[in-house]
Amino acid sequence: MRANGDLALGVDVGGSYVKMCLVRGEEVLARRAFPRPDLSPKDTAAYIAAQAEEISPGIIGEARLGVAVAGAISRSGGGLRAHCPNIRGWWGVDLEELFEPLGFGSGLQALNDANAHAYAEWRVGSAVGAKNFVMIALGTGVGGAIFLEGKLYEGSHGMAGEIGHMKVSPRGPRCNCGKRGCLESFFSSYSIPRELERAGVKVESMKDAFERAKTDRRVLSFIDRASAKMAQIIINVVHLFDPELVVLGGGVAKSRELLLPLLRRHIGRMVFEPFRESFEIRFSSLDEYAGALGAALFALDRGTGGAP
Ligand SMILES: [Zn+2]
Repeated sequence: MRANGDLALGVDVGGSYVKMCLVRGEEVLARRAFPRPDLSPKDTAAYIAAQAEEISPGIIGEARLGVAVAGAISRSGGGLRAHCPNIRGWWGVDLEELFEPLGFGSGLQALNDANAHAYAEWRVGSAVGAKNFVMIALGTGVGGAIFLEGKLYEGSHGMAGEIGHMKVSPRGPRCNCGKRGCLESFFSSYSIPRELERAGVKVESMKDAFERAKTDRRVLSFIDRASAKMAQIIINVVHLFDPELVVLGGGVAKSRELLLPLLRRHIGRMVFEPFRESFEIRFSSLDEYAGALGAALFALDRGTGGAP
């Protein structure tokens, strides 16, 4: 491959937006976000390549490429295949077949967007130096990632860490995955406004709900109940993996003053005593480019053989 040693392009393909981040080592050289074009995967890849050329002419072929997707990556049966339930046409898509003919060359790396976000936290964010940590990332849904012994734990098929679809209550509200009672159906940017509206309170967004909770006791009590569900999952994950750190990222990071005391109270009530002081909760210190940044750093580390 022609890729230059410390240059990498991270591309985060989400349901609504594509975000890109060009790095040299840990230094961010350029970033760009654009609405995801409603095109076939092949044409989307060509569109992404054209955007990359605009950011930095000649970058294709020079930089290592890391791709993060809002879905699962499978490595079984050869190739790196992306399965994205919320992106039309992106099901079983071979990413190497998409990007390599465009001149990106071999050595493409790919990972789930929450894993990419967690990777960025571990390299340059809130989880630097952590040996074992769990990330819960609130985007449209709820993503998760698990780092064990200083390594991203991807599972047998690259699907580990779907914390958003852990069950809180089997008869709970409907989740975007089609099943009921997942964490995401109680605590996410789509379920909080939806369930509040069902309870007779109209809010614009999850952010709006957090804002209203400061002055409206009814909204605060609703957020408190949703936080109890989040705390239930956090504590289950902590009991399972014994991490030193849980990082909360995405749309909730700006509402830490409201959420942290609620979460702490519920966790305090549920925690198995030996774990009480065993872990810390931190909020993400990165912005909405965390997935693209993580994909770039992952491609760089894997490409140079330094990746955990
Ligand atoms: Zn679900």
